[in-house]
Amino acid sequence: MQCSRCNHHHTQKIGLSRHKRQRWMCMGCHRTFGDKDLRLIDPKIKALALAMYAEGIAARKIERLLHVSHNAVLWLGAQRSCWQSTSSCARQRSSGH
Ligand SMILES: [Zn+2]
Repeated sequence: MQCSRCNHHHTQKIGLSRHKRQRWMCMGCHRTFGDKDLRLIDPKIKALALAMYAEGIAARKIERLLHVSHNAVLWLGAQRSCWQSTSSCARQRSSGH
């Protein structure tokens, strides 16, 4: 699990919320968060959100249109440079297969 705020990988399970969802705490920024936000978005929705974001559509609008959290959209936007570039990230990804 990766922290949605600082992208720290060192996160820890801290039990279940009262809605029986797994709660996590980031060891980097000590933020707590649930597991619903980022990781469970359909890849197709992700790509769509990213494309919309790239077109300059506001994250909150995308949130309404695609029913994803605007935090997720912003997070995706932050990953965008990596996503689109043909440099190290992309090469790493393709060579990983
Ligand atoms: Zn964090």
